[in-house]
Amino acid sequence: MQLQSAQTILHETFGYAGFRGLQQDVIEHVLAGQHALVVMPTGSGKSLCYQIPALVRAGCTIVISPLIALMHDQVTALQQLGVAAAALNSTLSPAQQAEVERQWLDGHLRLLYVAPERALSNGFLNRLEGVSPALFAIDEAHCVSQWGHDFRPEYLQLTRLFEMHPQVPRLALTATADPQTQREIVERLQLSAGRTFLGGFDRPNLRYTIQLRHQEKQQAQRFLERQPTDASGIVYCLSRRKVEETAQWLSLQGFRALPYHAGLDNATRQLHQRKFQINECQVMVATIAFGMGVDKPDVRYVMHLDMPKSIEAYYQETGRAGRDGLPSEVFMLYGLNDSVTLLQMMEQSHSPPAIKQLERLKLRSLLGLCETVRCRRQVLLEYFGDACEPCGNCDTCLQPVESWDATVVAQKALSAVYRTGQRFGVGYLSQLLRGQLEPRMRTNGHANLPTFGVGKELSDKEWHSVFRQLVAHGFLEVNMEGHGGLQFTQSSAALLKGQEKLQLRRDLQASKSASAKALAPVRQSSPLFERLRETRLRLAKEQGVPPYVIFHDSTLYEMAEKKPSSLDAMRRISGVGESKLGRYGETFLQAIHQDDLPSEGDWIQS
Ligand code: ADP
Ligand code: ZN
Repeated sequence: MQLQSAQTILHETFGYAGFRGLQQDVIEHVLAGQHALVVMPTGSGKSLCYQIPALVRAGCTIVISPLIALMHDQVTALQQLGVAAAALNSTLSPAQQAEVERQWLDGHLRLLYVAPERALSNGFLNRLEGVSPALFAIDEAHCVSQWGHDFRPEYLQLTRLFEMHPQVPRLALTATADPQTQREIVERLQLSAGRTFLGGFDRPNLRYTIQLRHQEKQQAQRFLERQPTDASGIVYCLSRRKVEETAQWLSLQGFRALPYHAGLDNATRQLHQRKFQINECQVMVATIAFGMGVDKPDVRYVMHLDMPKSIEAYYQETGRAGRDGLPSEVFMLYGLNDSVTLLQMMEQSHSPPAIKQLERLKLRSLLGLCETVRCRRQVLLEYFGDACEPCGNCDTCLQPVESWDATVVAQKALSAVYRTGQRFGVGYLSQLLRGQLEPRMRTNGHANLPTFGVGKELSDKEWHSVFRQLVAHGFLEVNMEGHGGLQFTQSSAALLKGQEKLQLRRDLQASKSASAKALAPVRQSSPLFERLRETRLRLAKEQGVPPYVIFHDSTLYEMAEKKPSSLDAMRRISGVGESKLGRYGETFLQAIHQDDLPSEGDWIQS
């Protein structure tokens, strides 16, 4: 019975044809009054897992959300669907706050979004005592983990809410939680009586490309050229300075680009984020400070001009593309210098040695992803304990890399490292192998080493490539205490002694990767689609809301393709529920048919 109402709400309120993935299982479980933890990738539709039960069960659902911008967006989107929702957070005036609380206590709200610190205030707790909520939804539940980078101490105290209403189901949701974090969430949010739903990590609509940096600007430009006109994108850089420079450069190239980093004051950051949200800014150039609150569903690409520090970070940052499920691209440039810079930063931090060691290992896994000759998606998913077939939607699948037997060459490289005392960097070692004498070598007594000049078969660039890949595969490591010299790891000896073979990737030359099959743009636009976009933008501006809360791109694409000719046909488009049909149905019908020729009958009559 309850499932029936859930389905009706899915069709009528949200305008969707069916549930996706685990949604139905989770919703049934919650409707049965049980607790749950849901770990599903970004864009897989977690919000529906609590929004639908909120509309089925009696009472108001309390949604704990740490991000004010995100909260605001969700509330706006729900209101567009005709759902009574509101938010309580620090941006409200006391009068506005009182008004929201009144609506809540009078039983007029179906969903109330609350910031954690607000939820723990005495005022809120007092009021909560007097009501019976439908459900507690705890969004971004990984914030409860002390070891994660998003730790929110208030999350630890949320149990005060639950103890007040132990019979009310609790649903914790997150896109990022390794098994350890999952255990912490279950324990700290007292979910052990419930179930954990794991949705896998794959983001099938993302196309992964990772390139060695040769000419950064050209590579970036080529990537941007193949993106749809006006597409929203995020460009990540490591430093504030590079963010500023890149934003300037992109502006000169004709993009509406803005910077975002922790060096900008709060107001500027908020303004830039807002502009991005409403498509006034097209490209956000940012450090990782631009993070959790990014809830824009139609980000079509994420480009990393610098390497992040782990696969987790890479997954999270690239995960901001394509939340609406439409094809999107993610692109990263990397080089050995990136890892040296990152290692330096890690070295300078005040973390305990064990953490530093863990960070180094994580960085190396990411380098391994960069240097792999296998499907990127496979390597990525395996890292998270998940799996897939070669995906056909990443650069190594689309353009397989050549690999070569580098066992002997690697032995020469390792021998050069060993015989020079594990103190020197790539430049020096390459010169030594190629027999290029530089004054330091004579002083160091290295000109007479047996390794001197044994590597003339490779160019300087190729030696750089070999060393870089040896680091990525864990056969060498960068010693940060020793000024970035290369040193042995536990695996080096076996390779040096010939107990192991090594295949390396042949670096694509800049020109070659340029001629790489220009990838088709993610989706073809059309004059009609553009017109629908304009219509949407106009409506959004009138109401001061982001365009995607009116309709998502996928809904506009479907309209442009099916050209519905009546309200009834419009109702069958995914994303058009009853409320939006009433509000916007006519306007979009008109936009679709404004150029239609009069029918034959009309001709005859006139
Ligand atoms: P998450 O919170 O997991 O990142 P969202 O809840 O924002 O994901 O949903 C991602 C996108 O998928 C949204 O555009 C949402 O409207 C859409 N969506 C969710 N569930 C369905 C469904 N059953 N059918 C069609 N679209 C859906
Ligand atoms: Zn692949």
